[in-house]
Amino acid sequence: MTAATFESIAPATGETLGVFPRSGAAEVDRAVAAARAAYEDWRLVPAPERGNVLFRFAELLKAHKAELTDLMTREMGKVKAEAGGDVQEAIDMSYYMGGEGRRLFGQTTPSELRDKFMMSVRMPVGVVGAITPWNFPIAIPAWKLCPALVCGNTVVLKPAEDTPLLADRFVELLAEAGVPDGVVSVVQGFGEEAGDALVRHPDVPVITFTGSRETGIAVTKAAADRLKHVHLELGGKNAIVVMDDADLDLAVEGIVWSAFGTSGQRCTAASRVIVHEAVYAELQSKLVTAAERLRLGPGWEDETDVGPLINRAALEKVHAYTRIGLDEGATLLTGGEPLAGEPGFFYRPTVFADVEPGMRIAQEEIFGPTTALIPVGSFEDALAAANSVEYGLSSSIYTRDVNRAFRALRDLQTGITYVNAGTIGAEVHLPFGGVKATGNGHREAGQAALDVFTEWKSIYVDYSGRLQRAQIDTAAQRPPR
Ligand code: NAD
Repeated sequence: MTAATFESIAPATGETLGVFPRSGAAEVDRAVAAARAAYEDWRLVPAPERGNVLFRFAELLKAHKAELTDLMTREMGKVKAEAGGDVQEAIDMSYYMGGEGRRLFGQTTPSELRDKFMMSVRMPVGVVGAITPWNFPIAIPAWKLCPALVCGNTVVLKPAEDTPLLADRFVELLAEAGVPDGVVSVVQGFGEEAGDALVRHPDVPVITFTGSRETGIAVTKAAADRLKHVHLELGGKNAIVVMDDADLDLAVEGIVWSAFGTSGQRCTAASRVIVHEAVYAELQSKLVTAAERLRLGPGWEDETDVGPLINRAALEKVHAYTRIGLDEGATLLTGGEPLAGEPGFFYRPTVFADVEPGMRIAQEEIFGPTTALIPVGSFEDALAAANSVEYGLSSSIYTRDVNRAFRALRDLQTGITYVNAGTIGAEVHLPFGGVKATGNGHREAGQAALDVFTEWKSIYVDYSGRLQRAQIDTAAQRPPR
């Protein structure tokens, strides 16, 4: 066991919440060996029984929802309502994937030959390495572990170094639900150490990763030599389009929730608002008024609207982008500074106006409570601006014109598009993920998640009692005996 440790720090107060082992390759080796041994039995447990374990896990998450919610407000910093939503997402996912235990459908299809049967079935892959970020510290592990487990894989989880306490509680509840020893292990530690060792481990054929684009590229490269399956959910630079016929009050509510909720630390956060010039002035003033009304404070206090950023580095990064925006010539309407006199990592909700689509604050993921207003003269210009970034996770359009709405649904280059709602609000039974630099073609959640954690096996059974050659004996089918 390594002697090195690291601390979990409460972002609202700076206090230490716990001390954790800073694991490296040796601990990863041990966890993978246990997962590999456990796989030999877990893959044979009938899938409905694996699903039952997830149903029990969902019940336990429900029973511990208040405790996990409170812990999340302290360790990660998001406000109570959102922390409860994070836990609820894990509950929903656990029930949904528990039900997959009685589905996991394959296909049956007729053969081109007589007396021959064909079907495809999903097979587990083996040990899954799951690497998760801190911003959805219960939901994202559930998005990965629930489908992985119901499909018959075993898992080594390397959670984010900012939220180790929540990860430990998550895995403890899984064990209490009846997940056998070794089927799930957690390895606490840093990305370049424990994370990298997991990605490179020869006995881990699948890596499911959620995090930044830069880390996603590093993970892909590290996994390439062993041709591993790599599932990536990466960053976003999501836009809300507000057209001249939009309900502006509704749009402002959606922008505030999408841009400043979770202090902007969501992959689906609306960090751009593309506004038709006919309503630009009105929207701008309504948005500033709403942003300035938000109360910053610790997540566990009922009256708080916006919690802290995750750590000091995040605070510095967000503030650096304020300076970049000012240098680029954008107009700072509100915010743009840390909250003075607070021990925590609080940053004021920040709105920039007069932003050009090509500016860095309109192109790069800031991951903080900063949004950029981009004026446009037409629907076509709005779509072009929305699509001008390298990411493609979520998008939204506010309009009452059904033709525009459907054109936007077709032409916005993102994995998720909302009409008359902000850029967030995914539910667990539809695929979740993005196009372009947000991922590599896989999806989390819904049926699509099963494709990450299974391989198809095609099965042919010939019951004719003679040699039948596919593609050759089809035309000259011999008469039945
Ligand atoms: P990050 O990339 O810094 O870290 C994510 C995880 O990767 C952590 O557990 C970290 O320890 C680990 N890691 C870091 N370097 C590694 C390496 N070399 N090898 C293996 N593992 C390594 O991201 P973060 O700051 O924790 O999270 C924020 C990012 O996550 C944002 O870009 C956000 O958009 C993205 N995100 C995406 C989604 C999505 O579903 N698309 C959801 C949430 C967050």
